[in-house]
Amino acid sequence: MSEFTHDILILGSGIAGLRAALEISMQSDGKVDMGIISKVQLMRSHSVAAEGGTAAVLRPEEGDSFDLHAWDTIKGSDFLADQDVVYRFVKMMPDEILRLDRWGIPWSRKPDGRIDQRPFGGHGYPRAVYAADKTGFFEMQTLYDNLLQYDNVTRYDEWFVTSYIIEDGVFKGLTAFDMATGEFHVFRGKALIIASGGIGRVSGFTTYSHTVTGDGIAMAYRAGIPLKDMEFVQFHPTGLIPTGILMTEACRGEGGYLRNNKGERFMERYAPSRMELAPRDIVSRSIITEINEGRGFPGPRGLDYVHLDLTHLGADKINERLGFIRELTMKFVGVDPVKEPIPIRPVWHYLMGGIDTNIDGKASGVEGVWAAGEAGCESLHGANRLGTNSTAECLVYGNITGNEALKYIDGKELPKFSGDAVQKEKDRIFNDLMKRDGKESVYELRSEVRDIIDKHMPVYRTGEKMKEGLERIRQVKERYKNITVRDKSKAYNTDLVFALELGFMIDVAEVLIAGGLRREESRGGHARLDFPKRDDEKWLKHTVAKYTPDGPEFEYKPVAITTWKPVERKY
Ligand SMILES: Cc1cc2nc3c(=O)[nH]c(=O)nc-3n(C[C@H](O)[C@H](O)[C@H](O)COP(=O)(O)OP(=O)(O)OC[C@H]3O[C@@H](n4cnc5c(N)ncnc54)[C@H](O)[C@@H]3O)c2cc1C
Repeated sequence: MSEFTHDILILGSGIAGLRAALEISMQSDGKVDMGIISKVQLMRSHSVAAEGGTAAVLRPEEGDSFDLHAWDTIKGSDFLADQDVVYRFVKMMPDEILRLDRWGIPWSRKPDGRIDQRPFGGHGYPRAVYAADKTGFFEMQTLYDNLLQYDNVTRYDEWFVTSYIIEDGVFKGLTAFDMATGEFHVFRGKALIIASGGIGRVSGFTTYSHTVTGDGIAMAYRAGIPLKDMEFVQFHPTGLIPTGILMTEACRGEGGYLRNNKGERFMERYAPSRMELAPRDIVSRSIITEINEGRGFPGPRGLDYVHLDLTHLGADKINERLGFIRELTMKFVGVDPVKEPIPIRPVWHYLMGGIDTNIDGKASGVEGVWAAGEAGCESLHGANRLGTNSTAECLVYGNITGNEALKYIDGKELPKFSGDAVQKEKDRIFNDLMKRDGKESVYELRSEVRDIIDKHMPVYRTGEKMKEGLERIRQVKERYKNITVRDKSKAYNTDLVFALELGFMIDVAEVLIAGGLRREESRGGHARLDFPKRDDEKWLKHTVAKYTPDGPEFEYKPVAITTWKPVERKY
């Protein structure tokens, strides 16, 4: 076992992790020593999949404003966003776009050469800056290219982090193994930025990469850092049938329609002023209502659907703005969107909740830990995120947490730790997990988790179904004690990786179901048939879940309402 030391450790090399690394390199003139650890090759981080755009106010002279972006985000959040966070975010975003521009990103442009922007759901102004329908890929590539000029960064690609070492409330390091050799190692660092992404793969019908299993969030929870608002998960309205591949909201931003089996643009019934460009929670609920009331099409495996119709946009526009979407639908389902509608239904997409942080992205209750991007919950999105605000959040909070971590390490020595935590973790993996000889299959339990989430935490939830779901997930937790990791070899032992990921998935799934069961109202991504209304009197507050060996314990925190009072949400 070797020990690696760095001033700052960054867990994750998606947009949030790379933006933080670049900020630290720039601000320290390449002097602060950093380690970036990722379980996949850097450019395979999930962020490369982001398609439609990144939100920012670029043209106040043409009618957009910080107040409007803030209002759209807060109303979109069903008033659960912390408004001080939202204002800080919208004010920082324009510089992030211009910085990326100077760093060389090929933003899509208007004919006069200015950066183009397109409409997105819930935004009252077309403020999605984009690079065709591969925005995430180009953002990642640009951040990575610019990071290459610094030599203060050590990359640990295909290294799997298993736990954080926090002693006396202070971050000291983490444990990880090199997936190529299977060797277990320890990292010491003065500060940690968790940029480990979301939890999408707890669902079986999701837009997310197979690697998005909530590891960084679950490790924080196990280390005593609370999780916030985990019951708020976003269903994206348009997942391709039957794979769940995302049909970006830019399809509707560019003018696409949603139609039911009668050919009706049904959004007129639910959001007449915004139609297809209402926020995602509202569009997803509307699609499911159409399907439940018999106006959908029968799909495979119960995946009934409606149509996303782009045919009226014409081949030129589709090829220029949505070329990747056309490629995907033709390759995966043989549908050419120039000629025929695309079969879609709401798909498990984004985690609004995550590691509980303050407005600076600092994790609650510990020193030396920050969280940025989808893993962190500084409460920007509240109960429902607006499209394009997530890559934006990765940029802003990569920037903020990079600077905060730099300030924190100034003058600090590398911390020492007892070694007990490392030995305990090594034993957990190699003497316990690897040596278990139980009857349970990791793969069957993974499917079971997904089945539970899909059946018990769908777009419309009920207390009864969530209660059953919680019982089922607790059974899986018990059964996990009886798994076998069949592959005992060291190099690229994906059996072990899957077993560790499954443990993380079970923890986050338990928190999100238990949190949902307690929240007796409908707000944003948490829609309950048994409590169909938002209840500000009782539930205008954040859910905070703390780890105990017997399951999560819950507390609640107030929402920062600085500017806009909650009102009825109509579109
Ligand atoms: C298909 C799709 C399209 C999207 N399009 C848009 C869009 O157009 N606009 C928008 O704003 N948002 C979009 N989103 C959302 C957005 O892409 C994500 O929220 C965002 O990219 C998350 O970035 P991140 O940096 O937080 O994490 P990620 O990019 O997910 O990176 C996580 C990193 O953590 C590492 N990691 C995790 N666990 C471990 C471990 N145990 N050990 C070591 N490393 C680990 C991973 O290897 C990876 O490097 C989209 C999402 C999807 C699924």
